[in-house]
Amino acid sequence: MSRFEKLLDRLGRERRLATEEYEELVRTLSREEAAGEREELFARAGRVREAVYGKKVYIRGLVEVSNVCRNDCYYCGIRKSNGHAVRYRMDQEEILECCREGYRLGFRTFVFQGGEDPAMTDEVVEALVAAVHREFPDCAITLSLGEKERESYQRFFDAGASRYLLRHETASPEHYRRLHPPSMSWEHRVQCLRDLKEIGYQVGCGCMIGSPFQTAEHLAEDLKFMERLQPEMVGIGPFISQKDTPFRDFPGGGLTQTLVMLGLIRLLLPRVLLPATTALGTIDPEGRQKGILAGANVVMPNLSPPVRRKQYMLYDNKLGTGEESAEGLALLKAQMQSIGYQVVTDRGDYPGT
Ligand code: SAM
Repeated sequence: MSRFEKLLDRLGRERRLATEEYEELVRTLSREEAAGEREELFARAGRVREAVYGKKVYIRGLVEVSNVCRNDCYYCGIRKSNGHAVRYRMDQEEILECCREGYRLGFRTFVFQGGEDPAMTDEVVEALVAAVHREFPDCAITLSLGEKERESYQRFFDAGASRYLLRHETASPEHYRRLHPPSMSWEHRVQCLRDLKEIGYQVGCGCMIGSPFQTAEHLAEDLKFMERLQPEMVGIGPFISQKDTPFRDFPGGGLTQTLVMLGLIRLLLPRVLLPATTALGTIDPEGRQKGILAGANVVMPNLSPPVRRKQYMLYDNKLGTGEESAEGLALLKAQMQSIGYQVVTDRGDYPGT
């Protein structure tokens, strides 16, 4: 048995490795010539995922509620210093309309994502969550609204939100400082994740693959971080540059490395809900199918009105109207069927919650 197979065996058995071992796997498997090794990884990840979820792919309806943001992350198209972004904020009724359309299409999970918009106060978010919960009591509500204080997270939870996505962005505080201005702190972001867990949310962390200054060692630290946090969801996708940000000239993250990370995360966290993200679909026309075949089991079609989608430009050429949108659901179902998977419409909670 080769060294890499031994490492994969142990990861599959013990669900943990040393950081240097994760790094070795990331390096070995990301080499272009390691196609055979990657096939082995994806086959193992597929078996693990199938043992928990069968051939099911869960759908989440994404609503991009606001692109106003008080933060200035160097990579992000909706950072506050981007004077070219056309800002918007959806009101409760507009968001509810998206949910109604989504519900009609079969969505039973709604994800409200947005910048850290000062106008989305605790009262506004709480009222929104309560209204959606009242109108769609059989649906799960996921929030992805950035860093808040623990009391705020608790209020949203009490109002009916049960899941929260907050990518840790990088497990290395030193790398974090190269991606964010001094006003933002890695420690606070990680504290938020801990608070969310303690409150009882199903929590999603995650990072971009191929972000500026990222090394294989950083990705290994990300895996170690996930091993410790034991998140219920992980959102990863390639970094894609945006023309109005300080990182406009950096190359984007690669498909291969993103797929390798999806496969490794599935082995590490067998039950994790793992999306094949929009960013993955943006860098490769078959990115989402490839993501599923590498170990992912969730897709998040966009329920935002088309005009909003164009304004929520985190990176250049973001997908908007194809099978990744809610209207393209039939196409998405067909695509998943063509690779042997079945889109299902139940809430898809983390097993055991
Ligand atoms: N404000 C919330 C937060 O901070 O979690 C949610 C919105 S934020 C725009 C959602 C995610 O988009 C971030 O966690 C980041 O990883 C991703 N993102 C931002 N800019 C990106 C880029 N240029 N390429 C790929 N992903 C990007």
